[in-house]
Amino acid sequence: MSKVRTRFAPSPTGRMHVGNLRTALYAYLIAKHEDGDFMLRIEDTDQERFVEGALEIIYRTLEKTGLIHDEGPDKDGGYGPYVQSERNKNGLYLKYAKQLIEQGDAYYCFCDKERLDSLKTSVSESGTEIRVYDKHCLHLSKEEVEANLAAGKPYVIRINMPTEGTTTFHDDIYGDITVDNAELDDMILIKSDGYPTYNFANVVDDHLMNITHVVRGNEYLSSAPKYNRLYEAFGWEPPVYVHCPLITDENHKKLSKRCGHSSYEDLLEQGFISEAIVNYVALLGWCPSDNQEIFSLEELVKAFDYHHMSKSPAVFDVQKLKWMNGEYMKMMEFDCFFEMAEPYIREVVTKDYDLKKIAALVKTRIEVFPDIREQIDFFEELPEYDTAMYTHKKMKTTEETSLEVLKELLPILEKQEDYSNDALFAVLKDYVADKACKNGYVMWPVRTAVSGKQNTPGGATEIMEIIGKEESLRRIRKGIELLEK
Ligand code: GLU
Repeated sequence: MSKVRTRFAPSPTGRMHVGNLRTALYAYLIAKHEDGDFMLRIEDTDQERFVEGALEIIYRTLEKTGLIHDEGPDKDGGYGPYVQSERNKNGLYLKYAKQLIEQGDAYYCFCDKERLDSLKTSVSESGTEIRVYDKHCLHLSKEEVEANLAAGKPYVIRINMPTEGTTTFHDDIYGDITVDNAELDDMILIKSDGYPTYNFANVVDDHLMNITHVVRGNEYLSSAPKYNRLYEAFGWEPPVYVHCPLITDENHKKLSKRCGHSSYEDLLEQGFISEAIVNYVALLGWCPSDNQEIFSLEELVKAFDYHHMSKSPAVFDVQKLKWMNGEYMKMMEFDCFFEMAEPYIREVVTKDYDLKKIAALVKTRIEVFPDIREQIDFFEELPEYDTAMYTHKKMKTTEETSLEVLKELLPILEKQEDYSNDALFAVLKDYVADKACKNGYVMWPVRTAVSGKQNTPGGATEIMEIIGKEESLRRIRKGIELLEK
């Protein structure tokens, strides 16, 4: 079998949609699973949709996610140029369109907008109205065509679809699909601005670039018979088609910008880790045989068998992604975690505390970085709190017992010089032993006093080590004062 070659063929239209990232990932995995080549091709023939900066987003995303292409505009592999507008400059697509005209498989169309607007409409499967071209220009004589071209009349080039019979194509995920040719429009191959349509350029390029597996979203499934017709007309072997299932939001609607987390950049901004995003996206439409969930990219390369992809829509579940992100946080090297967590910590903590210690406290307790804010806000300033918090049934504490504990501990803690976690813990344990009570009976009121919160990352002494002696004593005295009221 020839070497597997896949391509990621984004249009530079803005942020990297989760669906596009999945397409890139699956194309990468299919190639790498077989030791093949993964290629990047820029599809910029729709000049109106071009967005400034979108190319940088594409390169940055592939680099950050580790989906490193073997060939592309910046890495020549002998199949370039890899940007369609550059290929067009060389007259490539027109040459192939003309070949089809010669064969009678395509024709010039000079119809103006007015005439096209007057054509009958029909409703496509997806419910949108489409105008079916009536092949008017197919019947122009050779002389008429020549005269129009010589006069510089604007034109497009259309495929000449058969009106009878059927076209069948095979998709490796969705199986054999057959459509009546009568349903297939004489789609445009070359537009009046001289650029090819996506529909034409992708077929020409996939063939010329020796692409063996075409991986893309299933919104292209309904166009695949038209592409097949092109392959047939050229006498080219079609690639293996791998159409990926739709990705929906929690309401089972197509994942769109509206949900606020539809792009890779959105997710990074929301504090997700790139590796976790890639891992989660891999599971949107593919399921490993043993239900393993956490995969590094290398593990995915080994495990990914596209034959196990699913046809049914995949639901993008942010909660699940959060959980997965939390697992990645736990596995992360501390220094790397700190580097990413620090800006979030600095948002809330301006005092001269040891931020690394704060980071270590939250590392295993958060799912996404922004969770940090709410977890550590009490370090900066003791929040106002209700003394009812001192009462805890399981710890067997009440406001009275808490007051007594804090009052007894205050002079001990005033004398204590070493405010490291271990030393403080030993002091409190001694006190527990003296009182012959349970740990919680002492730890609960102390932690409440130093944090003003019911839930904190870390215990009383870990917090005290970070805020230091002076601030710890100030908070304990404040607790006493509140409890005495
Ligand atoms: N340029 C198309 C897109 O961005 C690519 C589709 C394909 O992979 O064939 O959706």
